[in-house]
Amino acid sequence: MTQQLDRRNFLKLSGAALAAGSGGAATVAMGQASAAPAVQASRMADLPKAKGPRLVVVGGGTSGLTVAKYAKKENPDFDVVLVERRDMYSSCFSSNLWYAGLINLEFLANHSFLDAAVNNHYIYFNATVTGLDRDSKTLLTSQGDIRYDFLVLAPGISYDYEKIGVDDVGVQTDLRLRYPGGFVSPTEHITIHRKVREFEGGTFIQTVPSGNYRCLPAPYERACMIAAMIKKNKLKGKVIILDANPEITIKAEGFHSAFDELYKDIIEYVPQMAVKGVDPYKRKIETDFDTYDFDDAAIYPNVRASTLIEHLGLMAPSTKSNQKEANIDTRFYQYVDDPHVYVSGDSRPHPYSKSANTSNTEAHYVAKVLAARAAGKEISWQSPETICYSVVNADPMQAISVDAHYVYDPEKDVITGFSDDTKVYLDRDEAKGQGALEWAHGLYRDMFKA
Ligand SMILES: Cc1cc2nc3c(=O)[nH]c(=O)nc-3n(C[C@H](O)[C@H](O)[C@H](O)COP(=O)(O)OP(=O)(O)OC[C@H]3O[C@@H](n4cnc5c(N)ncnc54)[C@H](O)[C@@H]3O)c2cc1C
Repeated sequence: MTQQLDRRNFLKLSGAALAAGSGGAATVAMGQASAAPAVQASRMADLPKAKGPRLVVVGGGTSGLTVAKYAKKENPDFDVVLVERRDMYSSCFSSNLWYAGLINLEFLANHSFLDAAVNNHYIYFNATVTGLDRDSKTLLTSQGDIRYDFLVLAPGISYDYEKIGVDDVGVQTDLRLRYPGGFVSPTEHITIHRKVREFEGGTFIQTVPSGNYRCLPAPYERACMIAAMIKKNKLKGKVIILDANPEITIKAEGFHSAFDELYKDIIEYVPQMAVKGVDPYKRKIETDFDTYDFDDAAIYPNVRASTLIEHLGLMAPSTKSNQKEANIDTRFYQYVDDPHVYVSGDSRPHPYSKSANTSNTEAHYVAKVLAARAAGKEISWQSPETICYSVVNADPMQAISVDAHYVYDPEKDVITGFSDDTKVYLDRDEAKGQGALEWAHGLYRDMFKA
């Protein structure tokens, strides 16, 4: 049975196998010596026997860490296992501040998955998810299979380089290595930090993609932080922001004031300039209108849900999501035809801001949904809250911010936009600069402490 399970899932779930067309299982067999079976027999993960309904949460980012903690609080009977492929945490949010020396790396990374699990009575299981068999409620991981009663997937986003005209996998790979977007993994942040430190002048390009990309204000905030370093080091350099959108996508007035008043000769903002191709070797960016040469760059391509969502067969049809997000219902995050499987965080198809505060507050609610459903009950929909500070000045440290909820239309079963109580604070000041730090500390506390 186990072998059949693996074989079926390998065929169903492996992108590589699917891409190979006729030879998914055969490819595995060919790669193996002699008469070994086509598929490895599966084994169960080394985990203690579940003491209650087992909730498996995939992804130790903002969403997964919060779901794991609060589901256990909401229903102490849950036996919670958090499956995360990283063995070190470092946050994506707040990473821009590091580039301007406003925080150190410890601020982002000094948070332990082990401590989070011990403090909040769940198991942290360091493994990569590779497959799913919903019939037998089994998750396949690099460290063995795990049976679940409820499964929450919160694997975040992946980049979509094809949407910026880079189709060749070799070029995509070089672009990823040399000019990372800095919106998925901590190692990208280390590279961008090094780039900013080593920048000696010339042109640094920061691109902004179209679509519902991760953290709308973050590319503009990053441009400010790099410009602040250029200013501080008195370099002959500039930051060009090539924005695929017709206008700064959020807090526009606050960013424009910062660009004009703090970085007049340093930041050049170019709207409506979608990237249509990149040559990472000659350092050129093509758009419909022009070619831009650069000395260094952070190329932020379009985003899509983590490729894991597609590989597990949970992707929504293109009519529902053009970013390959999960096929879940609007109010309860449940995969459309499976009451045991949920998807939260930036892999969701909702028009919410793909940001940490949204993922965190949403996860508090998802934890309540799970606890209610384990008890055979339902709860009413609650909006997530998007609180987002953007630091625009490094000396003194000043920020702008937004605080928003969302509106649900029960007739159409859709999210229609921001609620009327949305507040945007566009005057930069030091109080909000401090607010940005306190907000991040609060989030770390909520995810890692008891
Ligand atoms: C530069 C930058 C600045 C930002 N600034 C802000 C900000 O100021 N305010 C704000 O609110 N938000 C900000 N954000 C956005 C915020 O960080 C994300 O929106 C939020 O963390 C999304 O949470 P998530 O849990 O959905 O995804 P993630 O935090 O990305 O977590 C996904 C997790 O899933 C794991 N995973 C993926 N695939 C697998 C697999 N197959 N097996 C096991 N584990 C897997 C990953 O390793 C990762 O740990 C910023 C992001 C960046 C990059």
